[in-house]
Amino acid sequence: MTVTESGALAALHRVFGFDSFRGEQEAVIEHVIAGGDAVVLMPTGGGKSLCYQIPALVRPGTGVVVSPLIALMQDQVDALRALGVRAGFMNSTQDFEERRVAEAEFLAGELDLLYLAPERLRLNSTLDLLSRGKISVFAIDEAHCVSQWGHDFRPDYLSLSLLGERWPDVPRIALTATATHATHREITERLAMPDARHFVASFDRPNIQYRIVPKADPRKQLLNFLREEHAGDAGIVYCLSRNSVEKTAEFLVRNGIEAVPYHAGLDAGTRAAHQSRFLREEGLVVVATIAFGMGIDKPDVRFVAHLDLPKSVEGYYQETGRAGRDGLPSTAWMAYGLNDVIQQRKLIQSGEGDEAFRRRAGQHLDAMLALCETVRCRRGQLLAYFGQDTPDPAGCGNCDTCLTPPETWDGTVAAQKVLST
Ligand code: ADP
Ligand code: MG
Repeated sequence: MTVTESGALAALHRVFGFDSFRGEQEAVIEHVIAGGDAVVLMPTGGGKSLCYQIPALVRPGTGVVVSPLIALMQDQVDALRALGVRAGFMNSTQDFEERRVAEAEFLAGELDLLYLAPERLRLNSTLDLLSRGKISVFAIDEAHCVSQWGHDFRPDYLSLSLLGERWPDVPRIALTATATHATHREITERLAMPDARHFVASFDRPNIQYRIVPKADPRKQLLNFLREEHAGDAGIVYCLSRNSVEKTAEFLVRNGIEAVPYHAGLDAGTRAAHQSRFLREEGLVVVATIAFGMGIDKPDVRFVAHLDLPKSVEGYYQETGRAGRDGLPSTAWMAYGLNDVIQQRKLIQSGEGDEAFRRRAGQHLDAMLALCETVRCRRGQLLAYFGQDTPDPAGCGNCDTCLTPPETWDGTVAAQKVLST
């Protein structure tokens, strides 16, 4: 059945006001509406939500969406309701009465979509509730949270394999923006979706200019970068530690840039306030640890800056991918120095986990280093890491290594300068 016959295209026009599906959306939606399982790999901003929202609207029953983004559920549901979609959610931020209303609406068949925090599905009461209603589709968003190797691991995701056992006739769709083969395989295995069809979108983000500069005085370098190229723009600055987040935010504010900190050490109220300011205001800079960003749909983030080295290419790709969701030119800027590498190696060696875990972490760091040290097209190297081809093998013509080929850079002179100072 095509998207026209199923009514999917009509729902896209009527509810969301969009003209056409993008990329893989149409194929995914057709497959899920027909009752098939799907694993969807699509970059941030690619449009994963519609892949389950449309099937939920078209198929009879409620679409149950598992998402770890508790802080965003209320916003997501409000946005859907504003479009006329009957949406509800259940998570720990609600009081008893709010949850009771959501349950009643679900049982009465009055919800198109029900968003659930993963820990809800460990409760027998939730499973009982779901058994008493009609479910059109299960969507497992941010499915890479099932992977123990990623920094977003959520143990509760492991129990989601039971959905297929308890509801063998309800299609399941797992979605993520993490693209490596290893994560992909882990999702398929751990969610027990052996028959799923796999949809892999291109991970190329041509409007993002990737640049990595040698780290000297990173805050000063950041300030110059912002003043010269992104004055008044919204953006995210990632730092490794909470302390460095605080200091960098203060430094920017002292120098006339509107910036707020965000990390897990701030109380929930402050975090929520800073996040919502970022979403609503136009030119705010959030200085954050990696605790910030997942699921945030702000189209006009003009830059993502890294003051410290990310732990993996997956992390780097996810974080930089938050820039330029509107397709307009944006910058992924990073200050990189060898001290970062030494520090991270130490952290891995002294950190938690068994030998295999540490080896894996070391491999992730090596891949990140290779990206920093490459003399080839930066964007091409990033895509190659995810097993995808570069559109132009000669280079993207937009990243730093394409614009200023490193061959022309005189390493001897630079080395002498470093040695003589
Ligand atoms: P993801 O979850 O993959 O990061 P979202 O589902 O949040 O991406 O979608 C990103 C943005 O793209 C949203 O603002 C959404 O409304 C928009 N979008 C998605 N699909 C389409 C489409 N077919 N046409 C126009 N805009 C779309
Ligand atoms: Mg999403």
